[in-house]
Amino acid sequence: MTTDTGALDGAAVGPHDDEPHGERFANRLNWLRAGVLGANDGIVSTAGLVMGVAGATDDRPTILIAGLAGLVAGALSMGAGEYVSVSTQRDSEQALLDKERRELLEEPEEELAELAAIYVGKGLSKRLALEVAQELTAHDAFGAHAEAELGLDPDELTNPWQAAWASMLAFTFGALLPLLTIAFAPQSARVGVTVGAVVLALALTGWASARLGFGPAGRAVLRNVGGGLFAMVATYAVGSLIGTRIG
Ligand SMILES: [Zn+2]
Repeated sequence: MTTDTGALDGAAVGPHDDEPHGERFANRLNWLRAGVLGANDGIVSTAGLVMGVAGATDDRPTILIAGLAGLVAGALSMGAGEYVSVSTQRDSEQALLDKERRELLEEPEEELAELAAIYVGKGLSKRLALEVAQELTAHDAFGAHAEAELGLDPDELTNPWQAAWASMLAFTFGALLPLLTIAFAPQSARVGVTVGAVVLALALTGWASARLGFGPAGRAVLRNVGGGLFAMVATYAVGSLIGTRIG
């Protein structure tokens, strides 16, 4: 039987491997959310594109080539955008970490006081805060400062390539849905089947992003499906108009 004091002794206190660690859990949620948003982008932009072309022509190869070009362009644009934004963020994080490392070398006393002050700010007594700061400094000064001051784990900065690949894949995955649907549906039902599939998929991604953000799902689904429907109707109308003018 474990008593309260027993639980505080040595080995009994440790990271709970079976529980999601706060930051890592948040990190995974961020990735999931980015994946759902990327897929959503792929669905909406490709659906809009193929519907626009389908409004102008019945020619299956033309619709497919346009959709495929849109998929590749969209995926590359998402990947490049993600690479640039994560690289920039990583550069600034790296600069902050370098500064912290320098300060620890040059003025360790001030840094210790600074760390202790952070824990005083979080509610510890001065004496305990200093003790905590001293023990953390003895264990891993750099890691402790990175976490307490900057909220960063130096070993887990986001990798720009990883982020770029993830968003490219998510976009491609989403884009394939309207592309394959419009490619394989019989010509007479092409538009209806694609709209139906896209509405279902957008309801799913809207619901998933609401769940991941802990927001109300109903409104998110309506907004997401509404946005996608609007995109399809608008491009189909433009396609039909231009298609009859030049066709
Ligand atoms: Zn510091």
